[in-house]
Amino acid sequence: MVFQQQPPTLGNQYLDDPALQSYLKRVLPPDVLREVEPELIEMGRLAGGELYQMQLADRLNEPRLTQWDPWGNRIDHIEVTPLWRTAEKIAAEHGLVAAAYEQKHGRFSRVHQCALAYLFTPSTDIYSCPLAMTDGAARTLLSSGNQSLIERAVPHLTTRDPNQFWTSGQWMTELTGGSDVGLSETIARPENDAQITQSDRQTRAETWASEDVTRNWLLFGRKWFTSAATSQIALTLARPEGSPPGGRGLALFYLEMRDAHGQLRNIRIERLKDKLGTRKVPTAELTLDGAPAQLVLGTTDGVKNITPLLNITRLWNGISAAALMRRSVALAVDYARKRTAFGAPLAEKPLHRDTLEGMQAESEAAFQFAFFVAELTGRAETNEISEDESMLLRLLTPLMKLTTARQAVAVTSEALEAFGGAGYIEDTGLPVLLRDAQVLPIWEGTTNVLALDALRALGPDDRALQVLKDEAGRSIANVDGELASVVRNALAHAESWLIAARKSGELEAGARRFALTLGRTMELALLCKQGSRAAKGFAREGVDRIWS
Ligand SMILES: Cc1cc2nc3c(=O)[nH]c(=O)nc-3n(C[C@H](O)[C@H](O)[C@H](O)COP(=O)(O)OP(=O)(O)OC[C@H]3O[C@@H](n4cnc5c(N)ncnc54)[C@H](O)[C@@H]3O)c2cc1C
Repeated sequence: MVFQQQPPTLGNQYLDDPALQSYLKRVLPPDVLREVEPELIEMGRLAGGELYQMQLADRLNEPRLTQWDPWGNRIDHIEVTPLWRTAEKIAAEHGLVAAAYEQKHGRFSRVHQCALAYLFTPSTDIYSCPLAMTDGAARTLLSSGNQSLIERAVPHLTTRDPNQFWTSGQWMTELTGGSDVGLSETIARPENDAQITQSDRQTRAETWASEDVTRNWLLFGRKWFTSAATSQIALTLARPEGSPPGGRGLALFYLEMRDAHGQLRNIRIERLKDKLGTRKVPTAELTLDGAPAQLVLGTTDGVKNITPLLNITRLWNGISAAALMRRSVALAVDYARKRTAFGAPLAEKPLHRDTLEGMQAESEAAFQFAFFVAELTGRAETNEISEDESMLLRLLTPLMKLTTARQAVAVTSEALEAFGGAGYIEDTGLPVLLRDAQVLPIWEGTTNVLALDALRALGPDDRALQVLKDEAGRSIANVDGELASVVRNALAHAESWLIAARKSGELEAGARRFALTLGRTMELALLCKQGSRAAKGFAREGVDRIWS
């Protein structure tokens, strides 16, 4: 009989995930778990069933930009793929954004929402990207206190009705830089004010802060990376003309992309990016040629004012990283039972098993970290957070994002190897995991940029580091001496390095190693808190990344 290889298959992605189930059992009150579990089982069914099949069938489809209609009119229409159209509907109906705002489960609403996102993400080809920005935009508008924008947009961003649902873009990166956004060149002029002279503008700039928050503005500039360019709205940065250079002189603006007839409002979509991965995401280059916009919160401090959005998208980044790792492990483990080599299934080969366990350990560690940040975020959103915990959240958000993103690239790469040659072949649906994971360390702050941000987040007298150490200490209270020592030693090493590096002037150069050490150590501590069997395997991979 001719040999035929059985492909990997997926079951219900909630019921097949003991790490997710035991975490939710530990963290959620029993009545909350009882209420959310049916939704999670349903999402797990979709993710391992219809959506996964649709994702495989949709593999070759990509978003298409049509710039001109047959009669020479500029239309700049983007058509997304069938999978994305389905994903949008399911996301709205299942409350992928709404669950965090309906607050049915108080401070646990974030964990509930993130569990849904964790299941949904790996089967929907980065539809998590517009959802993350939509969630971030809702949070930013609500934090701004700008009542008219809140009333106008937030009900659309947080609805469960697919016909009313809006998504939001986040347009920060320009040609001048994504990390150093203070260099942004987009300018804002008050509407009906385009003809004033340069000297007038400078005089006016001084008074804008007090008078122009309710005005309409027009934006002029180029936005170099704008994902989800099919969104209805965007939050973006621009410099009111005459304002000082740098991040402080930028303001945060809200804009609606199209008018009531569906025409773009003085925005041109120049092209879609030709990307390594995230190919279902229509990431566009835009020209703003007098696009009407409104201030969200004032004429300065745009970079500071968009921070709530970044905190949320970084949380989504971590959840997505854990989710792509989980998918990689689920497929690789299933395949190992079906693939035979040297007389036995791979699953029975000690070395292959060890490799899979290493992947599982990284995946669970990332999961624990991302969900711990979700827990803290939920508490911050319901004002049930202490000052110390706020500092911890401020520090852990960049640490979690940078740590989990790098793990996702490593684990998805390992997963491809676990399939041998098949892992490199496109129509298995496997290579896309690695390509998509590779964006996670780049967008929403690169590893280096976030490592530097983590240094800033240490706070006065490195208070946040002390809080992190206390949290880790509580997490390892009930584990054996060896694991607890790994955590304590790594944190002690990080702290002594910090003091020495400040003195020697090597702080900046070592920031990435310091951040990864804190990130991985926190992950180990959280695995211990969960009582996970993966803790030992994770400790074996090492948590301390500081060399000196
Ligand atoms: C698929 C995709 C979609 C995207 N979608 C969006 C979007 O919707 N909206 C948006 O605003 N942006 C988006 N981006 C842009 C993304 O956020 C930026 O690419 C990213 O922030 C990095 O900015 P940059 O490309 O200008 O690189 P640079 O800022 O030029 O960075 C280059 C390198 O220098 C390093 N670096 C920078 N500063 C320092 C420093 N001080 N010390 C040490 N190292 C440093 C960085 O870590 C990086 O490795 C997207 C990017 C991609 C790939």
